[in-house]
Amino acid sequence: MSIQRLDNVFYPLGGMGYLVKNISDLFQEKVKGKGSIRLCFSAQPNSYPHLGTVMSIMVLFAIGEHLRERLNIPVYMQFDKGEHCIGDKKIVDGVVYSKSLEDVDMGGISKADFYMKSFNQIFTRLSEWSSIPYKVKNYRELQGEPFVRGTLLNILRRGKYIIPIISPSERKFHLRFPCPICKYSDKHGHYQEIEFRDFNSVQLVSNCFEHGKHSIVISEENEDFFDINTALYDLLLGAYLIETDREEKTVSIMIDGGDYAGVWPMLVHSEALLELGFHSIPNRLFAPLILDWSGAKFSKSLYVKHGAYSYLPKGLLDFSQFEKDYGSKGFDRLWIEAREWANDPVKFFRNYSMDYFNLILNQKENYLED
Ligand SMILES: [Zn+2]
Repeated sequence: MSIQRLDNVFYPLGGMGYLVKNISDLFQEKVKGKGSIRLCFSAQPNSYPHLGTVMSIMVLFAIGEHLRERLNIPVYMQFDKGEHCIGDKKIVDGVVYSKSLEDVDMGGISKADFYMKSFNQIFTRLSEWSSIPYKVKNYRELQGEPFVRGTLLNILRRGKYIIPIISPSERKFHLRFPCPICKYSDKHGHYQEIEFRDFNSVQLVSNCFEHGKHSIVISEENEDFFDINTALYDLLLGAYLIETDREEKTVSIMIDGGDYAGVWPMLVHSEALLELGFHSIPNRLFAPLILDWSGAKFSKSLYVKHGAYSYLPKGLLDFSQFEKDYGSKGFDRLWIEAREWANDPVKFFRNYSMDYFNLILNQKENYLED
């Protein structure tokens, strides 16, 4: 008899399993006197979501239900859309240039909006099931907030202290901006110069392979568009959530995939916030990771490049295929799973393998009525 059976799955207590009976216990004191909980999730809409992304989104809504019911407070979800992330790259004279998902065309709409359709379908369905409303916030909107721009200036002024924390190996700011004509950015800042004009504004100069020198100015008052890498984005978003929670009487919780748990939130995110003078850090939860047979995070780009998951059903890799393979009952089954995780810390604070998902999605009783 195979050892891979659902009645043979164990849940070790682990660290957090010893501490909390319910995930809501972590937030019980924090919601006192507050009006709502905002659950934040960010992703780059650069492909159809795969199983890992779908499960993170499901966890978000399931955690929302759990918190609303146990803490008796309204909950909403905010999707921070990473439309600034890389959609296309080219190398000219050895220098890497990139174009954002927002600036790459796919059949008359941007690549970001093309794949957002698939994300929105999932959000809409889960929002209906859980009665948790959601909204989408664009990166463009976030970078335009005066507080975010002010925080970026503060980060640049304190570069000597912040750079070793957020860029320990390369030791540089990953800050870029597109050429106004062709929209390509100097990805690694090869030609970039950063210069403070005065205490409250900084000028960035760069060079396009085709259109020559171009520049922007960043101050709290203006709107010149800048783009940043994940470490800076995560830091600015965290700072923004701390600030707006204070002003709006909300409690924000950032929910990310488990690959960002551990050292990142401690030694990168929190240390940088302390260095900037913040006295609190954002609430963060990390969804369980979905791992392949070797224990590596399930990665769609690996699948595309090397056919590493050719033994798995296509629906697990590409969510646009999921319902063909598993029907709407498969989606229901994932939702049941996410809710079980949200309601039991020993199921939430651990990871799951693709084999486990194969098992739960292929239970015969799921599909008998089809
Ligand atoms: Zn150009």
